[in-house]
Amino acid sequence: MVAEGEGALSRTASPRPPDLLRLHEAIADLFATQGDWRRAYQHLRSALDIARDGSLRDALTSSYNRRYLDERLSGPFTDRLPLGLALIDLDHFKSVNDTYGHLVGDRVLRRVADLLQEDLPPGGFCARYGGEEFVLWLPGLDARSAVRVVDEARLRVARHPWSALQVGLRVTISAGLAHGAPEFAEPASPERQLRHADALLYAAKRAGRNKVAYQDAQTTQLITHSE
Ligand code: GH3
Ligand code: MG
Ligand code: MG
Repeated sequence: MVAEGEGALSRTASPRPPDLLRLHEAIADLFATQGDWRRAYQHLRSALDIARDGSLRDALTSSYNRRYLDERLSGPFTDRLPLGLALIDLDHFKSVNDTYGHLVGDRVLRRVADLLQEDLPPGGFCARYGGEEFVLWLPGLDARSAVRVVDEARLRVARHPWSALQVGLRVTISAGLAHGAPEFAEPASPERQLRHADALLYAAKRAGRNKVAYQDAQTTQLITHSE
């Protein structure tokens, strides 16, 4: 099925950004043939920085990718504590593909990634975990603020004018949020926190989708939010 609104051809119609990586490589080659090794090296460094950044980005959504997330999960934790980690999954996304086609599905993923990346705290980021799942990394927020950030992201997606992309389209997300509150005796490692967020995501799904599930620090009660 062909997409409407944004236009099925937008990917081919928009001009391609200049390929800075190749440009730096070409300039480095030029300087190298002239024996100007210092300038050749500078351009190769720039090319390397661009290549490295690209290797940490998801090709479809341009958000960070799983490799970057894994590096952050296992690397030294240098953020401001505490850390909130939310695992986010699009609701009934298979039926979006089945009904409107994979091209529309891809566009939805890109738009959702953009919406998730709005209003993140300093040092926060969004990474595509895989398929139709994303992680929000939320450092330096207390539990209440982290819940608010994730729930606002959920609302942004639910209220987005999806019908401009495809008539009849509706998109929602579910989220599980694990928060490493400092009152916990032993703050969980980011990896353990992500497993916890996964369990909470399933709780949000079971509770009916389009919800954020998190564990309240005092009552350890599961709380869900809805529109
Ligand atoms: P639930 O609410 O339980 O999460 O249901 P769901 O349909 O979202 O979950 P399910 O795991 O059944 O389907 C996920 C779908 O996501 C299936 C797969 O084709 C689609 N998907 C994963 N990656 C991509 C992608 O890059 N592009 C597109 N268009 N679809 C993708
Ligand atoms: Mg999924
Ligand atoms: Mg899903």
